[in-house]
Amino acid sequence: MTQARQPRRWRKPLAIGAVLVVSAGMVIGGWFQPAITPQTPSPNPTSDLAHLRARSLSIPVLGFSASQLTDNYTQQRAGGAEHEALDIMAPRGTPVVAVDDGRIAKLFLSKPGGITLYQFDPSGEYAYYYAHLDSYADGIAEGGKLLKGDVIGYVGSSGNASPDAPHLHFAIFKLGIEKQWWRGTPVNPFPVWRDAKP
Ligand SMILES: [Zn+2]
Repeated sequence: MTQARQPRRWRKPLAIGAVLVVSAGMVIGGWFQPAITPQTPSPNPTSDLAHLRARSLSIPVLGFSASQLTDNYTQQRAGGAEHEALDIMAPRGTPVVAVDDGRIAKLFLSKPGGITLYQFDPSGEYAYYYAHLDSYADGIAEGGKLLKGDVIGYVGSSGNASPDAPHLHFAIFKLGIEKQWWRGTPVNPFPVWRDAKP
């Protein structure tokens, strides 16, 4: 159940380090001209949600309907981090399907996520992340095109999921302008399919 995209844990230390280096450079004579890395635009939950709802995303576990989803996006995980994803409990081997058209940005084996797949949406603005897979479907390869509903793999418990509780860990994040598959601003997938309880 617990799963954090591994590279994110380095973001904060790297950012603090970068600030220190830049500050030191400015203090020591002002000659140091760092390359400016544009900031990721601040998230706008309303427009992200409207955009994603307009895509009519498929539910990523075959045979599941919106009424079976539970919003566990804000659940606390080890270290106090929020879950920032949706867990969908399902029998091992249940097909996992692409929620949208797009392309496979990365197939990645991570310690927490296990067998994972990162998909970019057709606009290259958002990434969809599928984790704890049992295996990939035949023909799945980096750079490959996906159509909404294509089977990408099968529900499992790879990574740090409990073998007794196979599930899909699914996340959406808005990519920064660098379009790096491992980095972005998380968006809660739950309200894309279901209104939150009042
Ligand atoms: Zn999860």
